[in-house]
Amino acid sequence: DSRDYDSETKSVCPFCGVGCQVSVKVKDGRVKHVEGVNGPANEGRLCVKGRFGFDYIHHPHRLTVPLIRREDAPEKGLNVDPSNPWTHFREATWEEALDRAAHGLADLRSFYGGTSVAGFGSAKCTNEEAYLFQKFIRQGFGHNNVDHCTRLCHASSVAALMENVGSGAVTASFNEIENADLAIVIGANPTENHPVAATFFKQFTKRGGQLVVMDPRGQALKRHAAFMLQFRPGTDVALLNAIMNVIVEEKLYDRQYIEGFTEGFFEFREHIRAFTPERMNELCGISAETIRAVARAYAGASRAMIFWGMGVSQHVHGTDNARCLISLALLCGHVGRPGTGLHPLRGQNNVQGASDAGLIPHVMPDYQSVTDPEVRALFRHIWRGTEISENPGLTVVEIMDRVYRGEIKGMYILGENPAMSDPDVEHARKALAQLDHLVVQDIFLTETANFADVILPASAFPEKRGTVTNTNRQVQMARKALDAPGQAREDWEILVQMARRVGLDWDYDDPREVFDEMKMSMRSLHHITWKRLATESAVAYPCSGPDDPGRSVVFADGFPRRAGRARFAPARVTPPAEMPDDRFPMVLTTGRQLEHWHTGSMTRRASVLDAMEPEANCSLHPSTLRSLGVEPGGLVRLTTRRGSLVVMARADRAVAPDMVFLPFAYVEAAANILTNPALDPFGKIPEFKYSAVRVEKA
Ligand code: SF4
Repeated sequence: DSRDYDSETKSVCPFCGVGCQVSVKVKDGRVKHVEGVNGPANEGRLCVKGRFGFDYIHHPHRLTVPLIRREDAPEKGLNVDPSNPWTHFREATWEEALDRAAHGLADLRSFYGGTSVAGFGSAKCTNEEAYLFQKFIRQGFGHNNVDHCTRLCHASSVAALMENVGSGAVTASFNEIENADLAIVIGANPTENHPVAATFFKQFTKRGGQLVVMDPRGQALKRHAAFMLQFRPGTDVALLNAIMNVIVEEKLYDRQYIEGFTEGFFEFREHIRAFTPERMNELCGISAETIRAVARAYAGASRAMIFWGMGVSQHVHGTDNARCLISLALLCGHVGRPGTGLHPLRGQNNVQGASDAGLIPHVMPDYQSVTDPEVRALFRHIWRGTEISENPGLTVVEIMDRVYRGEIKGMYILGENPAMSDPDVEHARKALAQLDHLVVQDIFLTETANFADVILPASAFPEKRGTVTNTNRQVQMARKALDAPGQAREDWEILVQMARRVGLDWDYDDPREVFDEMKMSMRSLHHITWKRLATESAVAYPCSGPDDPGRSVVFADGFPRRAGRARFAPARVTPPAEMPDDRFPMVLTTGRQLEHWHTGSMTRRASVLDAMEPEANCSLHPSTLRSLGVEPGGLVRLTTRRGSLVVMARADRAVAPDMVFLPFAYVEAAANILTNPALDPFGKIPEFKYSAVRVEKA
């Protein structure tokens, strides 16, 4: 009953990229209840995180005052108790903390030059905050060394899409599955990671749609699938090339589409001939017969979609994996029509929007290259004479390497947690401890904030205003449902104060002014206004007019590339960066669970979610547990070339006998102590999905 609450505010879920719209019901300054509303992506549905995951904002660990590292603090390390930080930090006024934070960065700029400072922004912030953060680094420090978690998520997918399709966003919303006959889900586990999207996938199969799941791990969607291809980890290119080999050899491709909308087919056709199903079966472990059946089903469908997740992207060959998916869709003309398309399922709730807003080191807002003189001239004009560096900046892992080597001496980290999320995380933690000056802006004293010199208390999602963009390219309004606790402020306000203190003439008084400035350089926001977003449910880009809700499917008439043609990109089979051997005979893969979100800073402080999944765990096949002499629930030690940890083991038939799956939300068994920092050469994404590991009884 609405009389039970003081207010009800329509906003957006802070967790995954599905972008479910929620109604946040507040009583006595606390969120009492959250329910789904009829947004375009969720149609009233919510998963357990959106429904029960909001009380993290009232957790006693919330940062409510600015903090400054004490002169007599112990050496920097992962050693701060978030409920008692006073041995390491003291309270400060906002004035003192902002002065200390900004002047520390400005001093490094004066002494060592602008490149001695780098920044990580956040996909948990609004579009306006992401825009301001990249502007802060670019305008304030004269370079492009600014990045965010897209680097750890879909950077390789975006690299492949930009290269071959001309746009990094999805070609069709996931809701288009209702118009499809067949859908491939590869390297993704939507039931756990995009649960509301998964409900649409299940409805699709109920209506008779054919679902093809391809993943080295089994998963709940398997029950709904016509085909489940549990291939060997790291062999995506072999499997996908074999499928395309069948389509080419049996001439199942769409000749008319290829002639009208693509380039590079003849070279691609020659390239793909070597990848016969029989040969590729030896690598990927899927029978030639099954490969042929899937190829015929995909090519024979009138309308088919491909969805993928980080099982595709987080490899040293992640860009090649995504290139294969693009080529597969182009071969069969399954792009640009209702019920067809390419859809990398986005992780964080605003990773699409933060990327669009230019929180990426080689491109400005709307993916406009920093190497293009016309782009730099446009921003010189909008940013009142600022010279944009023509050198593409460093990415997340590269920045941390430069910190480790002492070349980067100061960092501003907003809402990201590299002390948990970076690969080979002990290396990242050592690097963070070495920084001369680290400013962390967050809602909790995260593992990264343990290493900070100044901590600025920020706002949780329901405590601020701004726009966000979901996996479907739908721009939505996040509204403020309640005030932030204590002295915590909205992130955009803190950024403005920081910018003024490093010498920038920023005069924004409201996020709406930031949004209006973004529109000056972002064609994607054409016809999308703050007023529309405040009154309408959502507007997708591209949008063709003030009354157009935006397009669900794009590229019906060609692609934003030369001559409007998408490109076939041949991909070769390359092995993972390290292979199992006698010392490390198994394969480690990492990922998320339904109940926990990313590094766990929010969901492990959400009482219901933490009660459901309270303990660090890994998954092993029952036969592997038996051979180790470990009962389900017992402890195992996992060791890779980077490090070692002990964790509780679960029996899970979804995991192959030579694999172990380890979620990365638990600081007490931080998965990234083990992961390999080897990078995909194009997307610069680390190989989180494949490390050689030894598993022993602990
Ligand atoms: Fe939130 Fe994603 Fe769940 Fe929707 S599916 S409620 S956006 S976590």
